[in-house]
Amino acid sequence: MSLINPTLVLNCGSSSLKYALISEDGETRIEGLAEALGNTDARIKHKNLDGSKVDINIPNSGAHTEALQIILGDLIKEYQPVAVGHRVVHGGDKFTKATVINEEVLATIEELATLAPLHNPANALGIKAINDIYPKLPQVAIFDTAFHQTMPAHAYRYAVPKQLYTDHQIRRYGFHGTSHNYVSNRASKLTTQDGDKGWLVAHLGNGCSATAVYNGKSMDTSMGITPLEGLMMGTRSGDIDPSFHLHIHRTLGLSLEEVDTLLNKKSGLLGVSGVSNDMRILEQAAAEGNQDAILSLEMFAYRVAKYLLSLTAGLPVLTGVAFTGGIGENGADMRGKIVAHLKHLGAKIDTAKNDALIRGAEGSFHADDSAIELWVIPTDEEYQIMSETREILGL
Ligand code: ADP
Repeated sequence: MSLINPTLVLNCGSSSLKYALISEDGETRIEGLAEALGNTDARIKHKNLDGSKVDINIPNSGAHTEALQIILGDLIKEYQPVAVGHRVVHGGDKFTKATVINEEVLATIEELATLAPLHNPANALGIKAINDIYPKLPQVAIFDTAFHQTMPAHAYRYAVPKQLYTDHQIRRYGFHGTSHNYVSNRASKLTTQDGDKGWLVAHLGNGCSATAVYNGKSMDTSMGITPLEGLMMGTRSGDIDPSFHLHIHRTLGLSLEEVDTLLNKKSGLLGVSGVSNDMRILEQAAAEGNQDAILSLEMFAYRVAKYLLSLTAGLPVLTGVAFTGGIGENGADMRGKIVAHLKHLGAKIDTAKNDALIRGAEGSFHADDSAIELWVIPTDEEYQIMSETREILGL
């Protein structure tokens, strides 16, 4: 095993940093996670090329720069990356594709913190940390929103006064673009069907979103100006009556911030079940007869299916549905529940194939007489970021 001309892929959160060093053919990688950055227990969990693992404490409540110094200067020092690809959450409508980072691009990423206050500043920290350590290393930003910039206006606009869009960039952006891009691409490679391809991609993890992709272009997606819109998620409500905030404020006295926290952190699978946001725990509780857990799973499945059906409106042709994310890749029962609601699309499952598609397996699970294809495609955002980074740099 060797790592030839590797690309470093970074996904920086406010107190965490996920990294992967990926070979140019995408076949080999070293990866790890730095967490609790800025706290006394800041540490790195690192996986070597041979699969062995090491845990390292970062001294002095290390932040992003200290973590990267240990990663680059010690853990992966024998492999000099040729470039760095950063996951950046919000590119607004300024960035429609992977973009080489310079001072101006970095400044725009920081300005876009108005749209992603938790994420963009953390992403910018990672870029600055690399600038400090290796100022000459080319850096590329891959935006979660960029893939959805192909959506037509009738899909991305909200039905609110025009000035909110023209003067304040209030519109639907969508997220998980790197994953939807990778999975739809892969589905188009795997299918035996010729001609135009229309996919519904269901990315079901802790965060969940669905996208209609036609010939490689996002036509519509379930998330909006923030990731709260759309599907029911681990702790997020997804779609809700827009007057909910006012109603809860009037009746329970909650502030806007409190309602926002309620909808982002205490709702979804966790809120409905009162048990957990983790699908495995909920399936266990449901098997033991917990009615709230059972309802949370039914609601989750129904709402995913309802969105998938509505997103068919954005597709000139429908080739099939591709499932990804922790739940999409492993939750065979949940996939079965969702597809059962797609009866009017003529979707039919091959149960044995569905049950076998877990733990990173890739494959189809539609029955021979299904009108549409059904796929499980494990997402690989790191690979996608690596490829887009190399492509834009001409490597
Ligand atoms: P994130 O959005 O944080 O990246 P993941 O894509 O890792 O999240 O997905 C996490 C979800 O996947 C959790 O709800 C977890 O319970 C679910 N999941 C993981 N393995 C299984 C499984 N075997 N069966 C059902 N759900 C699973």
